Amino acid sequence: TDKWIATPTRTKEILETHGFAFKKSLGQNFIVDVNILNNIIRKAGIDKRAGVIEIGPGIGALTEQLAIHADKVVAYEIDQRLYPILDETLASYSNVRILQEDILEADAARMIETYFASDQPVHVVSNLPYYITTPILMRLLRDQLPVTSLTVMIQKEVADRMAAEPNQKSYGSLSIAVQYYTEASVVMNVPKNVFMPPPNVGSSVLKLTRREQAPVEVDNEAYFFTIVRACFAQRRKTLRNNLIRHFNTTDKLQVVETLEASGIDETRRGETLTMAEFAVLSNTFYRLIE
Ligand code: SAM
Repeated sequence: TDKWIATPTRTKEILETHGFAFKKSLGQNFIVDVNILNNIIRKAGIDKRAGVIEIGPGIGALTEQLAIHADKVVAYEIDQRLYPILDETLASYSNVRILQEDILEADAARMIETYFASDQPVHVVSNLPYYITTPILMRLLRDQLPVTSLTVMIQKEVADRMAAEPNQKSYGSLSIAVQYYTEASVVMNVPKNVFMPPPNVGSSVLKLTRREQAPVEVDNEAYFFTIVRACFAQRRKTLRNNLIRHFNTTDKLQVVETLEASGIDETRRGETLTMAEFAVLSNTFYRLIE
């Protein structure tokens, strides 16, 4: 048999031996190409000092390569059917821990304290279950976990939105939400034939590098994100129309005057504003209207 789990023959053999059938509802598309995995690990900047958090190890394809390149790997898997399989496939890697938990319920901050050294760089590396890409990433970012970077395989369309810049067609509130916490870039596009079964959407690897400090100063973060979302609510509409609609007020003049006070032209569209401009806009509204 092949040496690595991440090959079509070895994967088929493991699945057959255990009578495992993929669950689409859990986003199960396993990688069967070891070169792709090693590219992801290289882009993530993993070395022998690194602690790695993996989400969804599957049968251990990526986990195995991470175990070889990193100091330690802690992986969250929700599907109980995979626990006995992982016990077997990863038996010879003593630096891997599988946590039998739903990542959306997990206390990752506590886990990091428990499993990694306090001076150890910790990275997230994962081929994510696509049906919960955004909730997983936003939860990890909002929790302000002490991780250096997150390098994740996700659907191409979402990767493009998260990394988009002003005036690009994918730019929107998700771009701002992600880039408020991290520097984002798409580092690789990945063909469908490296997965078993192939997903029905395109895939890309997104790298997020956590910022030490927020890139803009906002009076109230929740309010800032609410204003950003409001400005993109109807993409074809101007800031003026989206904000009037958002504040749902009969006093349109107040919205228009606040916009004027912000110094940002009311006829612009959300898609043209930089994060710094959104910060000015939301701070002005927060001070004058809230
Ligand atoms: N890492 C493997 C690979 O690359 O071949 C499998 C990746 S597969 C796209 C996603 C994995 O996430 C599956 O093993 C699935 O069971 C697991 N998963 C789905 N939802 C999860 C959740 N809420 N928490 C933890 N793992 C989850």
